[in-house]
Amino acid sequence: MTRLFIQRLFCLLLTAALALVPMGAFAESGEPATVVCSFYPVRILAENVLRDVPGVRLETLAPAGTGCLHDFQLMTGDLKKLDGALCLIINGAGMEQSFLPLLTRERAELPLADCSAGIELMSDHGEDNPHIWLSPFLAARMTVNLGQRLAELLPDERERILENAERYAGTLTRLGEEMRDALAGYAGRYIVTFHEAFPYFAEAMGLRVLASVTVEPDETPSPRMIAQTVSLVREAGGCPLFSEPGVHPDALNVIARETGAPMYELNPVTDGPDAPDAYEQAMRENLAVLLKAFGE
Ligand SMILES: [Zn+2]
Repeated sequence: MTRLFIQRLFCLLLTAALALVPMGAFAESGEPATVVCSFYPVRILAENVLRDVPGVRLETLAPAGTGCLHDFQLMTGDLKKLDGALCLIINGAGMEQSFLPLLTRERAELPLADCSAGIELMSDHGEDNPHIWLSPFLAARMTVNLGQRLAELLPDERERILENAERYAGTLTRLGEEMRDALAGYAGRYIVTFHEAFPYFAEAMGLRVLASVTVEPDETPSPRMIAQTVSLVREAGGCPLFSEPGVHPDALNVIARETGAPMYELNPVTDGPDAPDAYEQAMRENLAVLLKAFGE
C-alpha cells in the first residue's frame, strides 16, 4: 500500500465517521433528542415508530385544532421548536407547502423525514392531493418510510425503530383489509365529502368520491359547486353526504335539503387524542359510520 493510498483511506474513513457524529450525538448527549412532527397524523405514526425508544421527545408544529396544514404559517416560536431538533417529520406530498419553502431556507441544515417518499399521488385540479394518511395501506407505507429515515438518524436505536415500524405497518395493513372486507358489499358506492380529504381513503375502501364541495376545509363552497353537487347526487340516485368534525356544513345542509340525502360525519384524523392507537380508533369509527350510512 502506498502512503498516499493510506492517507486517502484515512481521509475517507474520517469523513465517514464525521458524517455519523451529528446523527447519534443528540441521543447520547444526555439531552433528549427532539423530533418535531408537522401535524397530528404524522405524530401518531411517529409515536408508534418511536415506541420505547429512550431519549426522544416528540413535538408537533401545528397546534391542536389546526386540522390540515393547507394554510398553515410558521410563527417565531415554531422556528424555536426546531432549533437543535434531530429532524422534522413531514407528511409530504405538498401538505406542508404553505411553509416548507420558507422553513428549508431558514433551517437549511434541518434533516427532514418525508413520509410520502415513493407513494404514487392522485391529483385534483392539476395539484397533488396530499391526504395520503387516510388510506390505512398508505399509512402503512408512510410508517415504513418513517422507520427507515429515523433508523438512519438514530443508528443506536436502529433495530428497535425498524421493528416498531414493521409491526405498526402490519397493524395498519390489517386494519385496512378488515375495513375493506367489511365494506365489500358496498364496493363502488358513492360518497360526497366536505373537503377533498378522502380520495385515497375511498380507493382503499373500494368506494368512489362523487364530489367534494370544497378543496380546503376553511373555504366557502361556491353556489355553483353546490348546484353541481346537487345534480350529481340526483343523477346518482342519491348518496350519503359526509361532513367533518368542527366544520359548519351549511353547503352540505343545502345539498341534503335539496336531494333528501342523509348526512353523516367522517373523521379526517387531523386531530384527536395523543395516543398511539388513535388512528386505528378513528378509522374504526369511520367504518361504523359508513356501514350505518350504506346500511340504512
Ligand atoms: Zn385537507
